[in-house]
Amino acid sequence: MRTLDEAAREASGCTRCKLAQGRTQVVYGSGNGNADLMFIGEAPGFHEDRQGLPFVGAAGGLLTGLLEGIGLTRDQVFICNVLKCRPPGNRDPQPDEIEACEPWLWEQIDLINPKVICSLGNFSTRLLLGKPAGISRVRGQRFKFRGRCLIPTFHPAAILHGGRTSPAMGQMEDDFRLIAKTLEELAVSEPDPDAEQLGLF
Ligand code: SF4
Repeated sequence: MRTLDEAAREASGCTRCKLAQGRTQVVYGSGNGNADLMFIGEAPGFHEDRQGLPFVGAAGGLLTGLLEGIGLTRDQVFICNVLKCRPPGNRDPQPDEIEACEPWLWEQIDLINPKVICSLGNFSTRLLLGKPAGISRVRGQRFKFRGRCLIPTFHPAAILHGGRTSPAMGQMEDDFRLIAKTLEELAVSEPDPDAEQLGLF
């Protein structure tokens, strides 16, 4: 199996979909390559495309604050998106783009091997759950995903849109507390990646 750096180097020249034409650079992901916790958002935005890093704008600040609320820093987790290149005008990802890009994500998950994955928003949640579930309905629950624990929550940009005093902000804080609790539980009982059950459900 190759390293995460080797995979990132290859991804930096990816032209598998039309988003290669308008991007400044591929935003592969950042953080700890051996993290127990991995976040998966939707796609890079304007600032991410310029800086080559995920979640660096206002939504990134919110994510950083939520992490600090459970005693974690960005260096301790891995953060990436379903799409590694910015869609023009920040439009929604299109199905052919997700299909072209998802092998990069599956490989990242295999290489990082996190215990807990947090999907941020509808696109990553639907892709990982494999069904068209609305984020409001599935957030704050624990699902099995390839021997790991998947916890969906809102996309930070949606919280910013609705305002930090919206009920969704409190729900997102609850979801982060569930993430922290799950990491604690899994630290006590090391999961078997081949097991059907994680002992959490
Ligand atoms: S979005 Fe993904 S598949 Fe499309 S060019 Fe970028 S890295 Fe390649």
